[in-house]
Amino acid sequence: MNSVVQLQQTVPNSLEEQWMPFSANRDFKNDPRLVMKSEGVYLWDQRGGKIIDGSSALFNVAAGHGRKKIADAVYAQMQANDYAPSFQLGHPGAFQLASKLAAILPEPINHVFFVNSGSEAIDTALKIAMAYHRARGESQRLRFVSRERAYHGVNMGGTSLSGLVKNREGFPVTLPNVVLMRHTWDPKVRFQRGQPETGAELAEDLQRFCDIYGAATIGAVFVEPVAGSTGTLVPPKGYLERIREICDANGILLVFDEVITGFGRLGAPFAADAFGVVPDIMTMAKALTNGAIPMGAVAVRDEIYSTVVDAAPEDAIEFFHGYTYSGHPAACAAGLATLEIYEEDDLFARAGAMSDYFLDAVWSLKDLDCVVDLRGYGLMAGVEVAPDKAPGLRGNALQKQLFWNGLHVKFTGDTAILAPALISERAHIDEIVDKLRTTLKAL
Ligand code: PLP
Repeated sequence: MNSVVQLQQTVPNSLEEQWMPFSANRDFKNDPRLVMKSEGVYLWDQRGGKIIDGSSALFNVAAGHGRKKIADAVYAQMQANDYAPSFQLGHPGAFQLASKLAAILPEPINHVFFVNSGSEAIDTALKIAMAYHRARGESQRLRFVSRERAYHGVNMGGTSLSGLVKNREGFPVTLPNVVLMRHTWDPKVRFQRGQPETGAELAEDLQRFCDIYGAATIGAVFVEPVAGSTGTLVPPKGYLERIREICDANGILLVFDEVITGFGRLGAPFAADAFGVVPDIMTMAKALTNGAIPMGAVAVRDEIYSTVVDAAPEDAIEFFHGYTYSGHPAACAAGLATLEIYEEDDLFARAGAMSDYFLDAVWSLKDLDCVVDLRGYGLMAGVEVAPDKAPGLRGNALQKQLFWNGLHVKFTGDTAILAPALISERAHIDEIVDKLRTTLKAL
């Protein structure tokens, strides 16, 4: 173990009462891993061990842990105005944050609806798509398209759009009329750095759905530009462009779920910028507040906002949707401070500049026997290891082992998703990859 820190919190007397999300509760409680303190790209566990954060926590702490500017902004906001309803009332922060976001979003996406998580962003995007088509007299567009291996959160809309069996099979009562395109991973194209050269033709699945169901029944297509939670699937060259073309030709809205790819992860503000394809709707969350306060957002093209808003009389509510905590003052303060940090430290460009070094380091793992695929773009990479007995068992075991060996990395199945903070130095990337190599080598 490395340095022992002054622990800021005490270890709880009982772990029993909390039902942990997305966790093996019994296994965890037998061998708990508690983060007691975090700073920069490091975490400290309850034994005082220092752990490098290889996944920006859950891909959200992009500017590193413990940013005082964010803490100060939230503290000041809490003292000035701790809460104001967002229904038929407002407070300055929500408008300021929406304007700041509009300034960095691709044109013509300039209207922002606030929520509290990525899952809420997805359900909100579904309703916005329905409201838009309805306002245009096309309320029959109730079919939604997603993809195999997609992760769009866990609310009922996102569960319906999910392409991951574990997230679907236990919850069969989901939205009707969701169809899934094929995913873009090709087992014959392994160790492909950046965008695969082949696979653009998979976008034709969308054309086939238009031909089978009738394009005029399809409301929106949901795409993670880089499929994140399934282990970093980078879109083939030409794929997103072709999806955009088919949407345009058929009046279908294109939704980019940028919950992971937003805010510099790919070396550009958003994946839409990195790939040069502008969607109609963008969902975001994660790095919006640098993980400090829960918040998500749905950003839409101006025409979507004006179509929905202008369809109702001026003094009537146009969109019967929203959350008590939409645009919470603390979250807005955190968001504003976070965007300032990204700008002041030029973190999106920094991520782009560090990408080659990061991907070189990740590709150095290619010689390990247990590594069966590597995929990556920007500051995001998937390191897939051969399964052991059943899929996912080795990944779970590795995530624990790596933690005690001083590296936090999020596994999905048997794939480690590396996503270092955008502030990472070369030495941090070396440390992450060295620790991963040492543990994988011992398998
Ligand atoms: N969409 C994508 C692409 C995600 O990666 C996630 C979370 O990982 C979500 C939606 C759900 O976000 P949240 O966990 O904030 O609800």
